[in-house]
Amino acid sequence: MKVLILGAGVVGAATAYYLCREGHEVEVVERHSAAGMETSFGNAGGLCPSFAAPWAAPGMPMKVLKMALKADPPVRFSLWPELERLRWTRRWLMECNATRFRINKLRMQRVAHYSLACLKRLMAETPIAFDFHAGGVLQLFQTEAECQYGNIAASALKEFGIPHNVLNGRDALAVEPALREATSKVAGGLHLPSDASGDSHIFCQALTAWLRGQGVKFHFGTQVRRLLHEGGRVVGCETASGALKADATVVALGNQAPALLAPLGIKLPVYPLKGFSITALVTNPDQAPTMSVMDEHNKVMISRLGNRIRVAGMAELVGHDLSLKADRRDVLVRVARSLLPNGIDYENATFWTGLRPMTPDGPPILGISGWDGLFLNSGHGSNGWTQACGTSRVVADLVCGREPEIDLDGLTIERFRQ
Ligand SMILES: Cc1cc2nc3c(=O)[nH]c(=O)nc-3n(C[C@H](O)[C@H](O)[C@H](O)COP(=O)(O)OP(=O)(O)OC[C@H]3O[C@@H](n4cnc5c(N)ncnc54)[C@H](O)[C@@H]3O)c2cc1C
Repeated sequence: MKVLILGAGVVGAATAYYLCREGHEVEVVERHSAAGMETSFGNAGGLCPSFAAPWAAPGMPMKVLKMALKADPPVRFSLWPELERLRWTRRWLMECNATRFRINKLRMQRVAHYSLACLKRLMAETPIAFDFHAGGVLQLFQTEAECQYGNIAASALKEFGIPHNVLNGRDALAVEPALREATSKVAGGLHLPSDASGDSHIFCQALTAWLRGQGVKFHFGTQVRRLLHEGGRVVGCETASGALKADATVVALGNQAPALLAPLGIKLPVYPLKGFSITALVTNPDQAPTMSVMDEHNKVMISRLGNRIRVAGMAELVGHDLSLKADRRDVLVRVARSLLPNGIDYENATFWTGLRPMTPDGPPILGISGWDGLFLNSGHGSNGWTQACGTSRVVADLVCGREPEIDLDGLTIERFRQ
């Protein structure tokens, strides 16, 4: 079978791997000159199934409003009445209650844990390297209230059977000694030993290079203009350099998926949530963290990626705007310095922004599209690196006409049609 994959972010690259592994003829279409150049470029690097959870949580609307009113707010939203954002926000608000949160979190957990297992198998089956580190993640608390939150989170982790250790301040410093020089208070933490980290951009580049050697064809620098269909069946796409035909087409276009699918009457409730990151070189390895640290006080994640650290956070509902703002960079540097004051070259850090492809309820949208020959692998939100291998394995199974290894209840577009 010939399969077209639209998009070479981490989701498209992983989908290409699973379909190539099945022996199919695979072609990938990507508008950039290389893989992993958009949202998969500079994310926080966390492979964190243990705390994969929806943004839509009970009390979140009020929290978001309060955060937006703070100095250097971690959350910002445009007041411009854009229809797509208003629709998305309405759906998001409907998910912000305890019942929906639990359902959505369980769905995300199902995909995310499966995904980390898939990634580990992929690593065993290929020679690719991407600064993977399996040392776990430390959720860091600076106040007593945050420690209380940690206790609540721990009881949920216990219920779901996820390994974790609740730590006081001293124990948190023992788990991640680089924090000993922190000028911010370390009041406590939650250590999630089964989580990991890695560079998703390097993963995309290494995997696509390897896949080329396996016969996968990449059409880089090629913009997809529209999907082609004949008699209710999608048969490929039209690109700036001509038509590409296939037996099956997978949409892995991140934030651009809704625009491409709309002409077919497929309404994908995916909206961009902008975030920022800096990447800085480690100048003294003894003073840099060995694991990912999620600073719950500032909602900023710091990951060690080889000889660099990545510091990422913030959430802005401002459409597809990709402008870089110096004040966001300054906040990330300030937060990172307060935790890791030495051993990092902050002066020469690179600054980046990206758009998380968010569904209003949290889980991604996988598989069936309502059109024969067309499959979805979209809406991975703030957990796309964590979920990419699992969702791609699921979609590859569906393309092959096989039952996926995990239950798809609540993970397809059907949940938005009911
Ligand atoms: C600040 C920040 C921090 C994050 N931290 C984490 C984290 O720690 N852990 C985690 O799991 N996730 C994290 N994420 C989320 C994660 O990065 C995304 O969910 C993931 O990268 C989405 O991958 P994707 O392949 O769907 O999208 P993308 O990487 O955006 O890929 C889509 C591709 O489609 C291409 N494309 C689009 N339109 C067209 C077209 N018309 N023709 C041809 N090509 C096209 C694009 O060029 C792009 O390469 C973070 C995101 C941000 C912004």
